[in-house]
Amino acid sequence: MARRARPKPKKRGRKTAKRASFTLATLMVVAVAGLAGWNWLERHPQHNPWAPLDLRVPIGLATSLKLVALRDDIPACRAVLDRSEIAYSALPATGEGPCARSDRTKLSAFPLSPSIPVTTCPVAAALELWRTQSVEPAAQDIFDREVVRFEHMGVYNCRRMRGGSSRAWSQHSTGNAIDISAIVLSDGTRISLIDDWEGDAEKARFLRTIRDDACDVFAVVLSPDYNAAHVDHFHFDQGGTFVGNCR
Ligand SMILES: [Zn+2]
Repeated sequence: MARRARPKPKKRGRKTAKRASFTLATLMVVAVAGLAGWNWLERHPQHNPWAPLDLRVPIGLATSLKLVALRDDIPACRAVLDRSEIAYSALPATGEGPCARSDRTKLSAFPLSPSIPVTTCPVAAALELWRTQSVEPAAQDIFDREVVRFEHMGVYNCRRMRGGSSRAWSQHSTGNAIDISAIVLSDGTRISLIDDWEGDAEKARFLRTIRDDACDVFAVVLSPDYNAAHVDHFHFDQGGTFVGNCR
């Protein structure tokens, strides 16, 4: 009787070794990529959601997340101002009901006119970011001038939205909003919403640039594009649940 040929032994050992080395190489690639990614995040704290917010750092992918986190956390917000070496005063709480103001924060050196208003800390933090990371660079880029003054039309006003008697309370009722009407440059040039939104090409470009940038740091931005009530000012507030409700 003919004997059956024995099946050739499988090269299991070699295959297993190959698979193990492939897995090891994959893990090494993932580890190197992860390490490179972490190093990149460390060098770009504006994109790193774990890096503490510092207002001297450019606006990045993670900035709005960090600003939103400050909305209901006054100590955390004031810690951001401290970390960023921004001088401010923390004033006592005032008011009651819908106009109670538990967070009254006043920036000491912001060039606001006719006076520096008392806002909430999240508004103050966003204003500082907007000034240093958007308005000042845009003024240099477009006009080759420094910004010397921001003109505003008010912060605190205990009222409902659009003056109605049954509408929701305005963010102005707690000082969580500011209306900016003009920017003045070091050569005396004044760029106002009412005169320049549809005017001189460079001034109009400047105003649209700083409006768009404000959308990265304020929860709500209303501009002349929104409605006739905002034809002469930008309304900025920190009342939304996310940054960038931009109109
Ligand atoms: Zn307003």
